[in-house]
Amino acid sequence: MTATPAAPTTQPAGTPVPDPADTPVLDAPVLDTAYFRRWIAETNRLVRRDGARLTELDAVIGDGDHGANLVRGFGAVAAAVAEQRPATPGALLTLAGTTLTNTVGGASGPLFGTTLRRAGKVLGETGTPTLDELGAALGAGLRSVRKLGGAEVGDATLVDALAPAVTALSDAAGADLPLREALDGAVLAARAGADSTEGLEARKGRASYLGERSVGHQDAGANSVVLLMEALRSAVDAAEAEPAPPESAAGQAAAAAAEPAATAEAAPKTRTGRVGIVLVSHSKAVAESVAALSGALLGSLDPAPLAVAGGTADGGIGTSAELIRAAARSVDEGQGVAVLCDMGSAVLTVKSLLAEEPSPLPQDARIVDAPFLEGAVAINLTSAIGGDLDAVLAAAEDARGYRKR
Ligand code: ADP
Ligand code: MG
Repeated sequence: MTATPAAPTTQPAGTPVPDPADTPVLDAPVLDTAYFRRWIAETNRLVRRDGARLTELDAVIGDGDHGANLVRGFGAVAAAVAEQRPATPGALLTLAGTTLTNTVGGASGPLFGTTLRRAGKVLGETGTPTLDELGAALGAGLRSVRKLGGAEVGDATLVDALAPAVTALSDAAGADLPLREALDGAVLAARAGADSTEGLEARKGRASYLGERSVGHQDAGANSVVLLMEALRSAVDAAEAEPAPPESAAGQAAAAAAEPAATAEAAPKTRTGRVGIVLVSHSKAVAESVAALSGALLGSLDPAPLAVAGGTADGGIGTSAELIRAAARSVDEGQGVAVLCDMGSAVLTVKSLLAEEPSPLPQDARIVDAPFLEGAVAINLTSAIGGDLDAVLAAAEDARGYRKR
């Protein structure tokens, strides 16, 4: 890695030299907002550089979309950061996390999204966190991603790289190591953790479907964590990529247009005051056909407000936070909304949206724990006959207990 002799600045070339007090000195780099902007730019660069390799890793034991997911996600983060110019490291990480959850149609979106959002929240209003504070914030992010995905070290997921990297950062802070040395250590620890996944059987995510056959292959998400750590390291000496763009009306219009997803489909609302139902599937066709079957079984009953969020916003297989938000809003009649998901990233995305503060889902939105088809039939019927949110959730519980032999 080559150190840039000139200190990084946020000024475009040709503008007057800033006050030296505001300028990070090579030997004493600071973790200010400009540093975190450079970190996003570096992450964006590295996931583009290694996107094909990440996708290849995911293709062997997953579904081959991990590189594309991260390229899309961090591209959106870089655009959001350039547009909104968050004022503190905490605000920047929070924006990055929310953007990842909202733009990546795979499990890694809510997983990385939750990690960064939680880290941002822990940093709060701090202008220049210390290494110790950064370690603690990422530690909190690690705890929340463990909680969200249920993975521990040894399950062959991104946690296997993130956990040792966080430990390395905190240990380095405790030992008062210089920043560059500390970050070098975090990169090495993440790399060793990612390498270790090769000998492990995947116990979470899609790779777990392969059981023992996942042994012998590295986890894609763990390799992405290595890139995030490499970017933390290279951001110390990287130059700021671009000057701040002016607040553009076009950008604001695009953001506004992205907000309500026009493709989410809601059944006509025939009367108000019932529990809304949202069916979330990786596949638009599955969501729609399950909705159709559960609707057909209602007979002559007045249909409940029901909307589907199927697939990604561009019609692919995956999960779209945007479609989920729009679907939930479209069925909200003030009596609560029951959200039923198929699996994996659908569940993670909904849980992550529910955990956001404030949540972009309607007040009294609940995730339903039930098999997709049986649950959809049960909750649709219960809402259609006028059951309240508790009754709808109880019907879902019943559907879960229904045995087939
Ligand atoms: P998807 O699995 O939905 O296709 P990606 O391919 O983008 O999403 O991300 C896959 C990565 O996400 C895996 O390599 C793994 O590191 C991580 N992952 C998946 N499920 C979990 C989980 N439950 N807990 C922690 N990490 C997970
Ligand atoms: Mg995948």
